Amino acid sequence: MTKKTITQLFNYPVIRLDDIPFTRKLHRLHMNILGFAKVSAFLLPTALVAYLLFGFYVPSKINFATHTDNCIFAPTLLPNTAKVASDEHYKISMPAKISINGYPIVSTRMCAEPTSIPSSSAKTLAVSQLKLPISKKIQITNTASLSASPRVKDGTISTKNNLIFELSKPDLFFDYELVADDKKVDCIVQGDAVSCPAGSLGLSQGQAYVFVLRQKLGSSSQELFTNELTTITSVDLVNSSITNNQIVYDAPTTIQLTLSKPVVRAGDVKIMQDTIVVPTTHTTADNVITIILDAPLERQKQYVISVGSAVAIDGGHLEAPIAVNFSTSGGPKVTGSTLPSSKSSLTVDFTLTFDHSLKPEQDFSSVVLLSSGGQPISSTYNVSGTQLRVRSKVQLASCQDFSVNISDTLMSAYDITDGTAYSANSRTQCSRSFSIGKSVQGRDITAYSIGNGPEKVLYIGSIHGNEKSAYYLLSSWLDYLEANPGAVPAGKTIVVIPKLNPDGFASGSRFNANNVDLNRNFASASWKPDVVVPGGGTLVNGGGTSPLSEPESQAIVTYINSVGPSLIMSYHSQGSIVIANGSGNSNSLASMYAGFVDYQHVATEESSEAFEHETTGALEDWLHEVPGIPVVLLELSSHSATGLFPYHKQPMLNVLR
Ligand SMILES: [Zn+2]
Repeated sequence: MTKKTITQLFNYPVIRLDDIPFTRKLHRLHMNILGFAKVSAFLLPTALVAYLLFGFYVPSKINFATHTDNCIFAPTLLPNTAKVASDEHYKISMPAKISINGYPIVSTRMCAEPTSIPSSSAKTLAVSQLKLPISKKIQITNTASLSASPRVKDGTISTKNNLIFELSKPDLFFDYELVADDKKVDCIVQGDAVSCPAGSLGLSQGQAYVFVLRQKLGSSSQELFTNELTTITSVDLVNSSITNNQIVYDAPTTIQLTLSKPVVRAGDVKIMQDTIVVPTTHTTADNVITIILDAPLERQKQYVISVGSAVAIDGGHLEAPIAVNFSTSGGPKVTGSTLPSSKSSLTVDFTLTFDHSLKPEQDFSSVVLLSSGGQPISSTYNVSGTQLRVRSKVQLASCQDFSVNISDTLMSAYDITDGTAYSANSRTQCSRSFSIGKSVQGRDITAYSIGNGPEKVLYIGSIHGNEKSAYYLLSSWLDYLEANPGAVPAGKTIVVIPKLNPDGFASGSRFNANNVDLNRNFASASWKPDVVVPGGGTLVNGGGTSPLSEPESQAIVTYINSVGPSLIMSYHSQGSIVIANGSGNSNSLASMYAGFVDYQHVATEESSEAFEHETTGALEDWLHEVPGIPVVLLELSSHSATGLFPYHKQPMLNVLR
């Protein structure tokens, strides 16, 4: 409706001035102006009010959208007197266009404002005026749907930065919150972008979460975005030139830390020694942080390499500060040695192993000293990596104490010294071994002697090859004497022949390789060729074709005759009995021994009964009958026991007194 139609409506008289003389024209004009003014003073406000009232009742439509003010042209007189509609989704406001003293007189617009998240169905609100029974209908529809999409790169989001959602239209009305993993944060709307501080959700890196962007107003809300997004993977330490808990043997000038992805910056990069910050600088290139040491690290100290923060190009960051512990070594330290504490060969020859490589070009003779009784032993040195072989140029005496001493100046391949001091004591083999003869099959019958005294005490084992426990016991006895050479009384020499029947021992047979029972082959009065074997039965020629027909028997008799031992201890199995041959003090020694090991002491005259078979041509009988040497014969408790020595040690020592 235009102003022209309003004029026509009120039928305003049209005056044509060119029809009348000038003075009348002038008068008419004056009168017309006055008349017009009079008419206008009444008609114009009336027309305006009418227009406003009429216009007010014309129904209107608003299609609600978030990016506009949702106002329509709707002139309203005295808007404050209007009953303004509202429902659960919208309210209508009428902003004042003309006000007097702040009181709104005229509003030209009606605006729909959401009071909650609007529904998609159309709403009709009525605004009534001046208590009239008719009202203005405003139909509000909501057809423009708003969508939000996250601004993500490669489908991943940072756990530190804001998560931005792009809206299909700007939103002037609603609030937003972001929800993930039962935590939520309020977002800020900036035009058509919603910025959510995802960093305060406390999300883990490299993990999938369902994110919900919720549009809110008051207590109402709707989900504008619901989808799974994955957070950017963390920056991790994947490699380092010094690894955690490493002992650093060299003197590095730089240390490299390799990260899982390229970083744009790394913060708080340092090396600490206890609470002291080691002077360093660092560079970051691609995914490598290089720490440059201003000066060599102190030796034999504990250090920690730490990186407080690192941010990757893709926004990933360290889940926790990097901490790599390490320590610096001193010079090479001995970690292993082949030098025994006793029983070393007379030509000393052993290898020391160090925790790291030695510098080959150094004077080992001034650093690794072999000596005996304060006198240096001239030696040769061969170095190979972490191993140093030391050999004496001269042969030491039997049972000679010596030591190896390393000073604190042994140098590593990296020219590092300190902390290398080391010493070890040893002793050359105390027992001297020799062969008293050979077996049928050519095996040596080996004897070991310890001590330098003129009086010989002889220990014999395994004259029957299947009686191996005797060999084990006498081997342990030799080991004990090696470790405790002082146990050999002054004036005495101990001779041990642990295996008098080496062929039988090798084949597990009681007999020698000629099928002769050696302990029936000695020239006692009772010797005869056919012998009774344990368990009964007769072995033809089991005593040999003649006394001492066997090389083993000959060897022991020859040896006994040559050295004339004062006592012979003869070990057999099995029976847990101790028998003396009746010569010298053999009976009292046998009694003493039996008491210690809780064996039965069998008197000499009952020996055949004890064995329950005839023992013809026995060594102990020949020793009693001919040279008159005391013999204590033991039948150990088992053929194969290896751990008997602890029970026999004391009586074995006692018989030496
Ligand atoms: Zn035997």
